[in-house]
Amino acid sequence: MATPERKIPAPETNPETKPFWEAAAQGRLLVKKCVTCGQAHFYPRAICPFCGSDKTEWVTASGRGTVYSYSVMRRVPVPYALAYVTLEEGVSMMTNIVDCDLDAIRIGGGVRRQAVYIFGDRVGFLDRCLDSVLAKANFLRQVA
Ligand SMILES: [Zn+2]
Repeated sequence: MATPERKIPAPETNPETKPFWEAAAQGRLLVKKCVTCGQAHFYPRAICPFCGSDKTEWVTASGRGTVYSYSVMRRVPVPYALAYVTLEEGVSMMTNIVDCDLDAIRIGGGVRRQAVYIFGDRVGFLDRCLDSVLAKANFLRQVA
């Protein structure tokens, strides 16, 4: 089921997050990972929030994750789903879930992240719902 288009304001960028947005414009999702303690973190920042090390690096995320929590906004002209998704890399990100039945979203359900909307020179991420094995199989065939 296609989600109707909704206008979303452009995200703010700064020098610390510039590589994140440049990669996003190329369709890649980056997360920061600490070289010292090995933990990934989000939002992107130069100092590891777990151990305080300044030895962090960018890694490309798989884009696969599960719904940690979500809320469906219905008192608006175009209903939409906001969610926190935990990526396989261990970080959680806020996102919109699109192209699925909003009533089918479940905590623990699978999602596949994709860069699908563009604001001028910036790109944001949306997640596609993979809430059932059948839906997942169908989607994987579409993108393969
Ligand atoms: Zn660390």
